[in-house]
Amino acid sequence: MNTEETIGLFDKYVIGNYSRLRRVIVRGEGCYCFDADGNKILDMFPGWAVSGIGHCHPKVVEAIRKQAGELLHVDNTFYTEQQGQLAKMLSERAFGGKSFFCNSGAEANEAALKLARLYAGGGKYKFITAEGSFHGRTFATVTATAQPKYHEGFLPLLPGFVYVPFNDIKALESAFSDEVAAVMVEPIQGEGGINVATKEYLQAIRSLCDEKGAVMILDEVQTGMGRTGKWFAYQHFDVEPDIMTLAKALGGGVAIGAMMAKEELAAKLVPGKHASTFGGNCLACAAGIAVIEAIEEDSLLENAANMGRYAKEKLNELKEKHFIIDHVRGIGLMIGLQLKGPGKEIVEKCLEKELRINCTNESVLRLMPAMIVTKEEIDAAVDIIDNVLTESGK
Ligand SMILES: *Cc1c(COP(=O)(O)O)cnc(C)c1O
Repeated sequence: MNTEETIGLFDKYVIGNYSRLRRVIVRGEGCYCFDADGNKILDMFPGWAVSGIGHCHPKVVEAIRKQAGELLHVDNTFYTEQQGQLAKMLSERAFGGKSFFCNSGAEANEAALKLARLYAGGGKYKFITAEGSFHGRTFATVTATAQPKYHEGFLPLLPGFVYVPFNDIKALESAFSDEVAAVMVEPIQGEGGINVATKEYLQAIRSLCDEKGAVMILDEVQTGMGRTGKWFAYQHFDVEPDIMTLAKALGGGVAIGAMMAKEELAAKLVPGKHASTFGGNCLACAAGIAVIEAIEEDSLLENAANMGRYAKEKLNELKEKHFIIDHVRGIGLMIGLQLKGPGKEIVEKCLEKELRINCTNESVLRLMPAMIVTKEEIDAAVDIIDNVLTESGK
């Protein structure tokens, strides 16, 4: 089937709830993907942060192939070694605690919000979230997402949510009360435009939660699994959450989400309180285990930190040449280029030159290369952005 024929199927049979780039992708390998017309695309935003160690990482592919031949799925009425192993590996690399597995970021956050209310007991029911956040599309998580554009057409939302400006400690203090069950934030806002939390802010959340008996939830769905150069972004900030949510890069391309909670919270989630049919099945968990092993065997945390530094250096050089770039921000391989104007057209022009990047919050170019990225690949990407900006007179 050629590109036009495939797009024709979508026009006729697939609900049009995404604005898609007009390419049909047929294969992926490392930092590249290939379209149905034979073009090789340098992918600096692989899988919207899902393909965190690159497309079709050989160790993940091998683990999936092996697992698929033995057992694909068994329900949570039974035990499987893979789920237990993945939970252990996450616990050892995070703050201890236990995992509940599901299939997406929204589901992980949904579980976190439910657990926070369960733990708080009656009376304590409010959730504080930050403006510019993104937590998912289910009713609870879209309510937690404090951006009006995601709410339009869906009112009334879930009661009990309070929104505060991000990184504003004063606002947080005034919004706090004994009725607050939890505060949920991203350590680096992804969809909101790569907005990095300050250390003081996350530490203020920690101490207010401790003082008022509320739960601190960090949404690491986008920041987690090594992208920032540490396993989890919170490890840059000298704080520890009570609950952390993961998804995107956790399965290396296979759908999986996790909510991790400290032991005393985890103990509240007894049989009957929450569940997921597919959650933590052995195929997804085998992929998750392979992702963690690949990151360690190939020293990808170090590479993410080094390549992140290098990419920021190169992009800062571009800033000197192009007035449209306001500044570069981010940690590790989670990089935002704040523009002084819209970025959509720049993303499209980059794709014409076979470079895939993303634009979020209208004017932030977002690069989230795979943790296996090399200097040469970063150089190639920066050159294309440079050319596009020059050709557009920016
Ligand atoms: C993508 C994302 C989600 C939602 O994940 P889904 O798998 O699409 O449900 C939640 N939080 C953050 C920070 C995300 O980036």
